[in-house]
Amino acid sequence: MSQKTIDRGHEYVRIEGVTKRFGDFVAVDSVSLSVFKGEIFCLLGGSGCGKTTLLRMLAGFESPTAGRILIDGQDMAGIPPYERPVNMMFQSYALFPHMTVAKNVAFGLEQEGLGKGEIERRVGEMLEIVKLGEYARRKPHQLSGGQRQRVALARALVKKPKLLLLDEPLGALDKKLREHTQFELINLQEQLGVTFVVVTHDQEEAMTLASRIGVMNKGQIVQVGTPTDIYEFPSSRFVADFIGSVNMFEGQLTEDEPGHVRIRCPELDATVYVSHGISAAPEAKVAVAIRPEKIELTRSEPAGSENRARGTVKEIAYMGDMSVYLVRLDSGRLVRVTIPNTERHADERIVWDEVVHLSWHPSSPVVLTV
Ligand code: ATP
Repeated sequence: MSQKTIDRGHEYVRIEGVTKRFGDFVAVDSVSLSVFKGEIFCLLGGSGCGKTTLLRMLAGFESPTAGRILIDGQDMAGIPPYERPVNMMFQSYALFPHMTVAKNVAFGLEQEGLGKGEIERRVGEMLEIVKLGEYARRKPHQLSGGQRQRVALARALVKKPKLLLLDEPLGALDKKLREHTQFELINLQEQLGVTFVVVTHDQEEAMTLASRIGVMNKGQIVQVGTPTDIYEFPSSRFVADFIGSVNMFEGQLTEDEPGHVRIRCPELDATVYVSHGISAAPEAKVAVAIRPEKIELTRSEPAGSENRARGTVKEIAYMGDMSVYLVRLDSGRLVRVTIPNTERHADERIVWDEVVHLSWHPSSPVVLTV
């Protein structure tokens, strides 16, 4: 996550009740959202949820059917893309194949009619910032995917937009390069102070890049928060399930006090005790979400009769840094547990078909009412 603190005092983009219809189809449904100056805001959602359409409305390539978009306090209705303080970096990078790196970066400035000396200076500066100074005379096909991505970024940034819109910016890169480039992107953003709105379907990418994330589903923003908020405090079954892995158990509220609740989950054959209150009707049907890394796996039986379950190890996947265990409970339900591989020697590790006990801390479950 970008470590920079968000300047909530300066709302740079304001989206007010924006809807976009294509015929009868509602692609974006009454979205209201603020993006603050200098933040990296990620719009995260599955395919077809409307995130690109929202981005294209910010850029001015589409206009809202209803609602308003303000950038730096100015209503964008009727303002064409080239008159907005905005630049967009496309998923495909859209570099000109016959032009050198320097020419690609210079293109926008030439269109603006700037002088030759000024263009050379700004292109040179920008290529240094994205560490492509040595590659100025190459053509795009002579570059790696990561380098091409940096040319596209330089081309978008050289015009000094106040707002940069990035559509799946790292989609074409392999995992290692993606990670590296994500950190570069954060550094660059902090160095230049530009506000970024990034569209991605990749939650890891959103978690790494974003100061805040807006999770989208079926044209609506379903939750906005920091990566930690979204992961630790999802507000619905949808968000809990969409971000990371989660074990979700349906249940019924049996006790509801200000400081704790108890939930009966038939699949767990135990009561879940949660050390925080919720707001729900008595005996409401709720879901309990527990992240795999928050469950402890032991051979010995834990104390107490709550927050525990028993099962048999059915699968183990060794992932290097951690192992994933799939445990079948007596009810038949499979539970996912992840354990970091902190020790190299594996003599003590739990193996296939062992009977094990699962337990978790009362602060770990999240209770979801929607
Ligand atoms: P992806 O990650 O697959 O790009 P997305 O969340 O960016 O998905 P959008 O491109 O915003 O999705 O599309 C949202 C919905 O609107 C989709 O169902 C799409 O088919 C529809 N849509 C987008 N543009 C048009 C258009 N010009 N005419 C009709 N329907 C459209």
